[in-house]
This record gives sequence, structure tokens and C-alpha cells, in this order.
Amino acid sequence: MTVRSPKVAIIGGGIGGLAAALALHLRGIEAEVHEKTPALSEIGAGLNLSPNALKAFRSLGVEDAATNIGFQSPDQVIRSWRSGRVIARQQRSGNVVERYGAEFLSIHRADLLDIFAEALPESRFHLNADCVGTETRGDVAVARFADGSEIEADIIVGADGLHSAVRESLFGHIEPTFTGCICWRGLAPIEAVSHMPSAMEMTAWWGPHGHVVHYPVRRGELVNFVAHIDSDAWTEESWTHECDRSEMMETYGKWNESLLRLIESSDRYYKWALFDRAPLESWGTGRVILLGDSAHPMLPYLGQGACMAVEDGIVLAEAVQRSPDDLAVALSDYERLRKPRSTRAQLGSRHRAKENHLASPFARLKRDVRIALRNRFGTDKSPTRADWLYDYDASAEDGFTTPA
Ligand SMILES: Cc1cc2nc3c(=O)[nH]c(=O)nc-3n(C[C@H](O)[C@H](O)[C@H](O)COP(=O)(O)OP(=O)(O)OC[C@H]3O[C@@H](n4cnc5c(N)ncnc54)[C@H](O)[C@@H]3O)c2cc1C
Repeated sequence: MTVRSPKVAIIGGGIGGLAAALALHLRGIEAEVHEKTPALSEIGAGLNLSPNALKAFRSLGVEDAATNIGFQSPDQVIRSWRSGRVIARQQRSGNVVERYGAEFLSIHRADLLDIFAEALPESRFHLNADCVGTETRGDVAVARFADGSEIEADIIVGADGLHSAVRESLFGHIEPTFTGCICWRGLAPIEAVSHMPSAMEMTAWWGPHGHVVHYPVRRGELVNFVAHIDSDAWTEESWTHECDRSEMMETYGKWNESLLRLIESSDRYYKWALFDRAPLESWGTGRVILLGDSAHPMLPYLGQGACMAVEDGIVLAEAVQRSPDDLAVALSDYERLRKPRSTRAQLGSRHRAKENHLASPFARLKRDVRIALRNRFGTDKSPTRADWLYDYDASAEDGFTTPA
């Protein structure tokens, strides 16, 4: 019997949607991407990617392209907010490949999206396609769009991010919980931070009620920073609300001088409120399934949202390739193999929020000593206990029902 190759429609042309499209394309499975915006585009911000993401890129054939345009900081350093004292330092180059099988990489989001898009045939993209709902009719998945059109496929993948319309059509509206934390982000030219000994390092500053992370992107031409503070002064979740420099300068006024000089060097600032969503009981019904932020939106404290979205795409494509004639098995394999890991990352990110923002000086000291000791004497390869994240290789996943 000849098995027909399944047709997959992906809603959302972000990092997760394009990674899934590429993973399917490389396996000879037809995948079309339906994106609501008029062009494939990304917010001007950086992404910090760990070795698990780079191993995923390798299996997609884009590891070299990503490392060529990204930036590899020699070290990852955690500093104390005011003095700049080093709490922990971890090598991000050298023997990292030996330890985890791939490097760390910081990259501009738009650069990564371009790499994925260039690896796919242009005919696979449908722009201005604003999905408003999905359903399964028998063995056929259907997506409806705002212009009244419909498409059919064997599988519809909802890769439409945090405010997923696909998730809403499957499970109804899920009210997120405000975390009591707001964030700012900006990009500074590298020249603006030449005063900083740590400008080329991936650095996290941990302070009372907040933390700031910065790292170079785009071959070291720009420095991306993201700052978090416990506050309820803003409650809008959009990643694209522009705001004034003065807000950040006031909020972080007592933090380390060199950090302030970095912050003041951006010409644009954006702020958003952080909302938390509990892990979903299920990722799909019938022939419609979720992927990336729509399936497992997570707080940013482990830096794993994009990494997990890319891993999802690889495991989903592999599951479909192994069970093309039984897509119910493929989708159930995908969810079974991906959910425990992404749930652990969702819950781990929640926990890390508390650890990063400790207000009491005594609690901070205890935490810093514990991390410093773990860094020096612990058996974990990472002082922040992230080995379980970094060791994983989605392309080596072997728990599928149908053997290769
Ligand atoms: C400032 C910031 C920093 C971050 N840093 C990191 C990091 O360092 N490391 C990391 O791993 N993760 C990081 N994350 C998280 C990461 O960005 C997300 O987890 C990742 O983008 C999820 O990818 P996605 O494809 O699931 O969703 P998205 O990237 O949100 O893409 C969703 C796509 O779907 C489209 N879409 C939405 N609705 C519809 C619709 N109705 N119809 C059709 N298309 C639709 C959108 O336009 C978009 O293109 C960060 C997030 C932010 C905001």
C-alpha cells in the first residue's frame, strides 16, 4: 500500500512555526505556513539560545548560518546588582561542546527568522492570513480566516504564540495571571558599552525585586538588554509598546553605574507586563495541535521559550514521518514526548522568578553562597542546574510508538 504524505497547515510564522515547517519540509512532508501579518517579521530583540536549541538547528541544517550571524559570549556571568560582584561564572565556549554537544548562542530574532525563511520555498508562506478558528471534521482539520476563507489539511498546527486563536478555538479563553512583574527591553550599539568589562559576556544582574540580562547579538554589533522589576505599574502584555527612557533610568537608578550607561544607550525602549499561564491539560483535539508558546507559554527566566518551540517542531515532524498513515498516533506521540519537558520548563521558570528577585539581603546572600558553592564544587555542569535543559537533543528523541 502506498501511504500518501500528509498535508500540514501551520498557523503562525514565528520561530516555532517556521522551525516546524522546516523540519517537515526536510522530511518531504508538505507544510504551508499561514501568518497574519503582511510580512514575516520579528520584534527587534535578542534571543539567548542554549545548546539544546543549537543541536536542534544542526538537525535543521541551519546551525552554521545561525552561528555566523549570532554571537557567542565567552562566559555567562551572574553579578550582584549594585557592586557588580560576580556570583557565578560559567564558560559558554571552549569545552561547552564537549559538555553539552553544542554551543550557546545569542541572536537577533529577525536574523533567526530570516534563516528559517530562506531555507524554505517561498510558495509555502501565506501572509495576511489571520486565523480566527479551527475545527476537525472527520479526518480533516479546518482553519477559518478573518477574510471568510477556509483551508483544509490533515493536521493543523497552532503556532500562533501567546494569544493563540487556535488555542482559544480548542479550549476557550484562558485568563492569564499577572505576575506582578514588568519588563523593559532595548538594543544598544556595541560602541556605547565599550566602557563595560562585561559588555561581551552574557550577563545577568540580580538585585532586590528585579534583574537585568544583557548580551551581544548580530556578530557583536548590538547589545540586547531585558530588565525585569516587581511592580504593578503596568499591566499590558503586548511586546511592542514603546515607552520613555526615563522610566528605566528611574527604576534602576540605584543599580551599578556601568549597567546604567548601557541602559541609557538604546534609542528605543519597550515595556510589557509579564503574565503567567498554567500548563494545559492537553495540546489538541482531533487533527488540531498546538506548538511553541500557544502550547506552553512560559515566563522568560530560563530563556527556553524559543528553544522549546524549535524542539517541538522537530519532534512533531519526526512523529508525523513515522506514522503518516495514523496521524492520531503521530499527534499523541508528539504531545506525550514534548509535554513533560516543556511543563518542567514552564514550572521551573516560575520558580526561578522568585530566586532572581529576592528582596531580603540575607536571603540573597544565602542564595549567592549556595550558587557559588555549586559552581565550584557541584557535579552539575551548570551552576543554575540547567543541565537537563542543555543536554537534550530533540533530533535524538527515541520514544516514538513507531520505530524509524
Ligand atoms: C523580550 C523577550 C525575550 C525572550 N528571550 C528569550 C530567550 O532568550 N530565549 C528563548 O528561548 N526564548 C525567549 N523568549 C521567548 C520566545 O520569544 C518565545 O517563546 C518564542 O517566540 C515562541 O515562538 P512561537 O513561534 O511559539 O510564537 P511567536 O514567536 O509569538 O510567533 C507567533 C506567530 O504567530 C502569528 N500569529 C499570531 N496570531 C495569529 C493568527 N490568529 N493567525 C495567523 N498568525 C498568527 C504571529 O504574528 C507570529 O508571527 C523571549 C521572549 C521575549 C518577549
